[in-house]
Amino acid sequence: LGAQLNGTKPTMNGHASDSNESSSTSERLQVINDEKNFTTHLTSQIGRWGLRDAGFNYNIVAVFGSQSTGKSTLLNRLFGTTFDVMDETRRQQTTKGIWMCRGKDMDVMVMDVEGTDGRERGEDQDFERKSALFSLASSEVLLINLWEHQVGLYQGANMGLLKTVFEVNLGLFGKKAQDGSQGRTLLLFVIRDHIGVTPLANLQATLTADLEKIWDSLSKPQDLQDRQLSDYFDLAFTALPHKILATDKFEAEVQELRKRFVDKTRDDFVFKPVYHKRIPADGVAFYMENIWEQVQTNKDLDLPTQQELLAQFRCDEISSVALADFTEQSKSQRRPIEAGHVVEGLGDLMRDWRSQALSRYDRDASRYHQGVYQRKRADLLGVMDSTLSPLFLGQLKNLHRSCLSAFKRELLEGLRGDEYSFADVVEKARTKCETRFADGAKEVSLEDTDWTWQDELVSLREEISNVADQCRKDETKKMVNLIERNFRKQISEPVDISLNKATPDMWDKVLSTFKETLEKAELTYLAKAKSFNCTDDENVASLAALRKRAWLALRAKIDEQTADTAILGKLRTHFEERFRYDENAVPRVWRPDDDIDGAFKTAKEQTMNLIPRYAKITPVDPSLEFVLPSEPSDPLNSTDEFDFPSTLVIFTETKSLDLTSRFRKDADAYYVEAKRSTVSSIAQ
Ligand code: GDP
Ligand code: MG
Repeated sequence: LGAQLNGTKPTMNGHASDSNESSSTSERLQVINDEKNFTTHLTSQIGRWGLRDAGFNYNIVAVFGSQSTGKSTLLNRLFGTTFDVMDETRRQQTTKGIWMCRGKDMDVMVMDVEGTDGRERGEDQDFERKSALFSLASSEVLLINLWEHQVGLYQGANMGLLKTVFEVNLGLFGKKAQDGSQGRTLLLFVIRDHIGVTPLANLQATLTADLEKIWDSLSKPQDLQDRQLSDYFDLAFTALPHKILATDKFEAEVQELRKRFVDKTRDDFVFKPVYHKRIPADGVAFYMENIWEQVQTNKDLDLPTQQELLAQFRCDEISSVALADFTEQSKSQRRPIEAGHVVEGLGDLMRDWRSQALSRYDRDASRYHQGVYQRKRADLLGVMDSTLSPLFLGQLKNLHRSCLSAFKRELLEGLRGDEYSFADVVEKARTKCETRFADGAKEVSLEDTDWTWQDELVSLREEISNVADQCRKDETKKMVNLIERNFRKQISEPVDISLNKATPDMWDKVLSTFKETLEKAELTYLAKAKSFNCTDDENVASLAALRKRAWLALRAKIDEQTADTAILGKLRTHFEERFRYDENAVPRVWRPDDDIDGAFKTAKEQTMNLIPRYAKITPVDPSLEFVLPSEPSDPLNSTDEFDFPSTLVIFTETKSLDLTSRFRKDADAYYVEAKRSTVSSIAQ
């Protein structure tokens, strides 16, 4: 017997079937043993009975009555349960405690409360009270089982049991009765061994009168003085024939009674919704255990508090189950996000996980105390959102990065080729980039969160501007380079010609060329710069740089034309043109009486006069001396590394002397040659 305590035992009623499922549904469990300990198996047993997910779609019925009045027998017949029945031959006392079975083919939990009537045995009234509390807190229907001959014995022990039930009920549901819900219980009196001499109606009247008397005799709390028995209980009565003397009739009437527990369409169907204690099936075990613990420790049983405790416990459990799946799902995207990827459709994924977890939670938890359910739901949402938040932020950061590099790519793409407006290219790329970012950010923003992406957009915008600025500077530089190259090409020939001719206004021509070409270059720059959205400052700086570079290009050209060999060549040509050719550019043939010395001297002096002309850029028209503007900020003004006036000097004094002496030697050679030619002509 000991092995059965707190354990389960397969069916004993011979209906044990072949399938596992039906054998587990016929299992019974001792919920409270004779040591008054609560079982640890109720949750799993409710699962094995297949009732765990029943929600509110199940019923609980308990039986009360004196020892050996055929309670277990009745339950087994009515519900197809497998409770122990006292062995006739040995008249053995069954153990005390509360047993539970699942009704066969019905979603009903049946409680067999053994040894309830302690009075009869003159003992444990404590257990009677506790089991009454326990049963009333959860049962919809209480079967009160009694012999016919016990009816009317108001002072009888069985009525003491009812007094206990009433008292306990007042404590449990007294305050709640006003709203009519959750506190109502059906007391179904089953009168056993009804011989039939006294009609049921008479027995019923007697019992009802007795119940009213008991009710009146209760010492009720002040605020519940006016309460009627009918405020808390519905009463129903039925009688059964003698099981041994009228076996067939007994069995038939029990089967008839069973219909009242099964057939919802009957008027006398016992499990009316109003009796339901609204404990979700998956919370029954925890609830009962708590009730029992309160009962055991003699604490006041405050059912609303118990329901809240139950709700807290179950909502936490349900929440953590929902959260476990959610956490698993959200983990899957952590790696790609951390690796810097933009996860396509991450928002939808997150929405999905979140609503899956929520609906899982709602499905099971919404049956519990609404306040607790809502509070825990908010907690769950909070935990989920804080789990998702790093994914959101990571996605934003990755989106930011990828949009920025797309922007750079787009920009380079657009700036390929010659015909483009820089401003248009930038604007198009910027719009595309920002739209892409905003779309992605919206997708990944979850409803009902305080998540924002505006700050990230602001910082993206800043970086876009930086990139665009840098790009504009590069482009401007490229453009200035191009203009400078063209400038070089354009001045090359005019400067060559001017420097070759070496007319007195040579520098005026050079500077005029410079000025005109530079003006054209500046206009080209300004035309192009319009599409670059350059600032005025930038334009001023670029133009100044352009001017300086143009000037240096001119100087380079001049340097090239005035390098030693080039300048000596020029001088020689100049000299030759004057000494070896006459005014009509006809080669001279010297005759002995020709004034070779005079001609030589003139040509030499004229040519040597050119050296100071070449030596410094000095226009005849003084206004041309300032081809370069001279605002103080102008980089062409003297700075440490650039001193404009010094760039006007082509040859130093020393260099001029050197060139003079080298030219002299060249000229002397021509002179000697000329002399020789006359000598040879004489000699001929
Ligand atoms: P319990 O202690 O109230 O659960 O009673 P049991 O169901 O164990 O039955 C106690 C004894 O009464 C057993 O020997 C049964 O055979 C017998 N018994 C059961 N039902 C009836 C009945 O309707 N009338 C009579 N006279 N005896 C019954
Ligand atoms: Mg029994």
